[in-house]
Amino acid sequence: MLNTTTHRRQFLKIGGSALAAIPVIALTSNAFAAPNAAMRTALKYQDKPLAEKSCANCLQFVPGASPTAKGGCKLMPGDTEIAPTGYCTAWVKKA
Ligand code: SF4
Repeated sequence: MLNTTTHRRQFLKIGGSALAAIPVIALTSNAFAAPNAAMRTALKYQDKPLAEKSCANCLQFVPGASPTAKGGCKLMPGDTEIAPTGYCTAWVKKA
């Protein structure tokens, strides 16, 4: 049977490991941020708008840090390189 001191040690050990992993997880997610090539191809993504249609005025766009910064798209998981000036065949007018 474990006493309170043992429980506390185990808790601190596990908690410390979890805290140590946070920067690694953050770094890893940034290191693997890349265009979703398969979805881009499937949806014929391009970095230029099609007339008045662009990612910036698309319902699926997830804006970046500023209006001109690259962001994401709800239809392209993991892709953080979507240009607000881009376009693809899944474009839907933002209300
Ligand atoms: Fe851009 Fe297409 Fe995503 Fe709309 S669906 S934000 S047009 S990539």
